[in-house]
Amino acid sequence: MPTTTTTSTATKTTASPAAAKAAKPHKPLPPPNSDFYYLYETLPAEELAVVKRVREFMETKVAPVITDYWVRDAFPFDLLPAVKELGIGGVGIKGYGCAGGSLALLGFIQTEPLVGSGASGGLLTTAKRDGDTWILNGEKRWIGNAPWCDISIIWARDVADNQVKGFIVENKTTPGFSVDKIENKVALKVVQNGHITLKDVRVPEENRLQGGNSFRDTAKVLKVTRYAVAWMSTGCAMGAYEAALKYSQERLQFGRPIGSFQLIQDLLARMIENITASQCLIVRQAQLYAEGKLSDAHAALSKAFCTSKCRETVAWAREILGGNGIVADYQVARFFNDCEALYTYEGTFQMQNLIVGKAVTGLSAFL
Ligand SMILES: Cc1cc2nc3c(=O)[nH]c(=O)nc-3n(C[C@H](O)[C@H](O)[C@H](O)COP(=O)(O)OP(=O)(O)OC[C@H]3O[C@@H](n4cnc5c(N)ncnc54)[C@H](O)[C@@H]3O)c2cc1C
Repeated sequence: MPTTTTTSTATKTTASPAAAKAAKPHKPLPPPNSDFYYLYETLPAEELAVVKRVREFMETKVAPVITDYWVRDAFPFDLLPAVKELGIGGVGIKGYGCAGGSLALLGFIQTEPLVGSGASGGLLTTAKRDGDTWILNGEKRWIGNAPWCDISIIWARDVADNQVKGFIVENKTTPGFSVDKIENKVALKVVQNGHITLKDVRVPEENRLQGGNSFRDTAKVLKVTRYAVAWMSTGCAMGAYEAALKYSQERLQFGRPIGSFQLIQDLLARMIENITASQCLIVRQAQLYAEGKLSDAHAALSKAFCTSKCRETVAWAREILGGNGIVADYQVARFFNDCEALYTYEGTFQMQNLIVGKAVTGLSAFL
């Protein structure tokens, strides 16, 4: 009978002691490492220190508990004080008490029930000025952390000039503002997404974002958040790759580690190729941002490329784990499912390609 051994928080393996002895490698196997092109070495020392600090935190504090939260659709509030201690809030942003650093280290409320991809064409949520206040009416869907956070930035169409404007709303104290948690998600289950209803919500003029006066201004936010999702999906692929690689070194079939089979190595090679290409692309994107040259199309290309490559990579990781690939305890199933949300949010794959297509042809395919 096979025995089951927990070898790490990332993977479990199954092998008989006799087979394990027979297949004992002659030299130590390399530890899983998804930084194939030594990109960490391109970071300045202080930024590398941040990466190391975050990685250690994720491995020691988050990895051991996150699957339990994920399975229960629960948010790990008890980790928040330690996250605060890490000092990474607002990384990549200068001023406002943010952590600063380059955008290479980075790694908000628009969607409505009836308006997702078509947000640029006309949000249905309205803002009407009434003296020194604004009256907001409408609904917002899929809003991350909305069920528990203190404030929301609501993007709404000013009925006077038809332009999109942003408003800071205090979630817990504003009459007419309510949030329902979206239940039964199968991806990004730890993130609590909300369906917001705004019924004659009054906010003072001073809560209007003075620099946000059109959809073009909200698109500036999307440029940075799409960049962030490119990183998130690359991190998701890296996590799945490292778990699958470790599993392939430990899991024995036909008396040998499955990682010694050519077809498994082919999958692992394709995974690290996808990851390395995504990492290089994002590092160049961070440089473009720092130089003030990052365009909407640049951000759209990396969001589309990295999330689609992540989708391939996590599917191959799931494949390498065989049946265990669909069991949450083995980590890879979580990466596999979470990737589906990354692929869709901050604009779908198709929307990103339409933005890139417009940039390269000079012709808009948007209606
Ligand atoms: C987990 C999660 C978290 C999210 N968090 C947030 C958040 O915090 N804030 C926020 O504002 N939003 C958030 N979103 C919303 C997300 O941005 C939208 O789901 C996304 O933009 C797609 O909109 P939709 O779901 O309405 O799909 P739709 O717009 O209805 O699209 C459905 C399909 O039609 C395709 N399609 C649409 N138009 C075209 C076209 N012209 N040509 C070709 N294909 C087309 C799309 O690509 C897609 O495949 C989140 C979503 C998820 C799943």
